[in-house]
Order: sequence, then C-alpha cells, then structure tokens
Amino acid sequence: MSKHKQILLTNVNQPDQHLIEHAIKRGAYERLQKALSLDPLKVIEEVKASQLRGRGGAGFPTGMKWGFVPRDSGKPVYLINNADESEPGTFKDRVLLERDPHLVIEGMLCAAWALQSEWSCIYVRGEYAFPYVRVQRAIEQAYEKGFLGDNVCGSGWKHHMVIHRGAGAYICGEETALLESLEGRKGQPRLKPPFPAVAGYYGCPTVINNVETLSNIPWIIDNGGEAYAAIGVENSTGTKLVSASGHLNTPGVFEVEMGYPLLEFIEQECGGVRDGNALMGVIPGGSSVNVLTAEECEGVRLDYDSLKNAGSSLGCAGFMVMDETTDPIEAVLSLSRFYSHESCGQCTPCREGAHWIEKIFARIARGEGQPGDLELIENLCDQIGGHTICAFGDTMILPYRSFVRKFRQQFRERITQVLKGGESTRNPIDFEIGMH
Ligand code: SF4
Repeated sequence: MSKHKQILLTNVNQPDQHLIEHAIKRGAYERLQKALSLDPLKVIEEVKASQLRGRGGAGFPTGMKWGFVPRDSGKPVYLINNADESEPGTFKDRVLLERDPHLVIEGMLCAAWALQSEWSCIYVRGEYAFPYVRVQRAIEQAYEKGFLGDNVCGSGWKHHMVIHRGAGAYICGEETALLESLEGRKGQPRLKPPFPAVAGYYGCPTVINNVETLSNIPWIIDNGGEAYAAIGVENSTGTKLVSASGHLNTPGVFEVEMGYPLLEFIEQECGGVRDGNALMGVIPGGSSVNVLTAEECEGVRLDYDSLKNAGSSLGCAGFMVMDETTDPIEAVLSLSRFYSHESCGQCTPCREGAHWIEKIFARIARGEGQPGDLELIENLCDQIGGHTICAFGDTMILPYRSFVRKFRQQFRERITQVLKGGESTRNPIDFEIGMH
C-alpha cells in the first residue's frame, strides 16, 4: 500500500501557494469549472460513490449528509465550513487553511454548487489568527478573479462567501453550538432533532462540513468518486491527515492512505518514539477517544474499523504519542482540566461532573488520593454518559474511563503510596469542595 498518496497536501510546501496566481498555475479552480459543467445532483452522486466520510471526527458519510438537504423547501441552503479546529492534539486543518486556502475555497464552491447554495461561511477558531488572515485574503482574491460573486466563472450562478472568527470556545466545534455562535448567541449546543440539514442556520437547511472533508471534493470531481473509493480500505476510503504530536522524533501533519499500520506510521513517518524510548500508549483520534496501550497498538491500522475494533476511534486523527516516561495520571489530569474548562454548562452532569472528576484526578496526582477514588470516577462517568444534550459529555469520559482502567496499577500505587507514607497532606476543605 502506498503511504505517499497525496490528495490534500500536494502543494502545501510551495511557499507561494496561498497566492491565487500561483495556485491557478497549479490547477486551482479547474475542478470548480468542471463541477459547474455537471448537474448538481451528479456531483452529489460522485461524492456518494467516493464513500468519503466526514473528517471532523464523527465520520458520517458526506454524500449522504448532502442528500438529506431538502431541495424544495423554498428556503435558502447554507454551507458552513467548520474550521473551529480545537480538539486537543489536532492541527491538520490549520495547514490547509494557511498554506492552500484556495483548495479549501474551491472545495467549498464545488460543494455549494452541488447543494445549490448561494452563501457559505468559514467558521474559524478565534486563536487561528494567521489562518484567518490567509483565508480572508484568499476570499478577496477569489472575488477579484470571478470565482466568487454574482456570476461565478460566468456561469450565471451566484455564490458569496465570508469568514467568521470564533471567540475561543471548544464547544463551538459542535455543529449546533457553532450555529448558535454564528447567529450571535452564546455558543451552546441545541437539542437534535431537528438536524442542521433540515433546520440549521436561521432555521434554513444547512450543511456543516469539516475543512479536510471539503478539501477532498476537488480531487473527487477531477478523478471521480470510484477512483477515490479505490484508495484506502473498505469503509475508510481515501487518505487521512494525521496531526502527530507528543513523544515523537518528528511530529507534524502527515497525509497517509487509510489503513496505514499504526506502528509503522510512528516509525516511518514520525521518526519513531523520542530518544529510543519504549511506547507507553497512544491517543489516536484527538483527546476525546479511548487511549490505547502499546500492546493494544499491535496490528492496528489507521482507519475507522481497525481503530474501532481495537476499542478506540479514528476521530479527527489527533494522534498523541506517550513514551514510557509519561505519568498517565498527569496525562489524564491535563485532559480533565481542559474538559472542565470547556464544558458549556448547560447540562448538570457535564458541568458538575467535569469539575468533580478533575478535582479527583488532581488530588490523586498530588498524592492525596483516597481509597474508592477510582470507583468514584467510574461512577461519575456512568452518570455523565448518555445524560447530556451533546456528545461532549459522552466523549469526555472515554479517556477518563480508559486511563483509569488501563493504567489502574499506576493509579493504585499512587494512592497506596500515600496511605503507606502516613498522614495525608490533603486539605480537607479542598476535599469537601471536590465532593460537591
Ligand atoms: Fe454543554 Fe456539556 Fe451539555 Fe454539551 S454535554 S451541552 S458541552 S454541558
């Protein structure tokens, strides 16, 4: 299997690719013109044939999502590019936004044509200041060249595009929270149904796709859905951008064919684990998935089914590597700090549970753990999972449960050490706060 198939990163190392004249010389917007020559429904058929799945984490089939949009509602159809890339360990979309913004815009235009949408928006995370500037300028250039506006490429089809900067909340990557934010309200998820495809932005049919997902569309238009489906493995077609970080010799963003062996990825693409250390574990999909121990990584491949069968998830492929020097208690404490800070506060189990669990991890890490703490964490996870408005609660507990289960010995030893060492130094007031 070729690991070097390049669909998305082909031009990102060209220093002038963000400038439209140079992007056009390398073929930018040719696929848009091809899409405009096709019936919009034919474009959707090609995307369905490609079996492309959403790259934002959920992996929902893109063509099917587009097919849900009612075409006779009498309301405008909106397209939103979700560039609120905030999952810990994930920084792949940033590379596309910064270095090949015209690929992103062309992908959006092809999708918008398929959906017969006349307005689209890129919702970019607030911290992405430089990508924002790059994409904003690229949109202006696309208007100047006639790829955006009232008469796209002289076709008579109208399409306008804007970029909107978020204000720094992780939850705005959740599609309904994103819509709330875009409509000018506090970014908090909505109850579903209705789903955005039917009632999204201002109650109108809205498709929300990830940056990487949309950036695949030009290649699919150019080569056909079947050619795309021939890349990768069953149920996981095409290539995947992987944001590799942690204890690696050469971390970075890599494009690999779906189904690429996980351990080979660490050795061949990322230069191996740092300093020749042994691998302790990997969080393969961004922080909201189950951690895999080194033993569990054996034979696993980077695709949806293989990672699911291994008990984790491909997610958005925020691939975080931990070597043998890692303290798993500090690692999961760090994640719990993030989630307790980012809970939007609408649901009691998520809002209260996230803080409570963080406090328990913190006291264990400080050497003030108590007998029963691990069972208490597991019980809290049970109370959160399935009892919240959005998937934040369900996915936040995945690393908690899996760290506690898979590194239980280290947790127990830390708690036992303290008990053997005599009187705990814990602050009883702090402990009381932690219990409420
Ligand atoms: Fe907000 Fe958490 Fe409820 Fe999601 S699960 S709506 S983040 S409180």
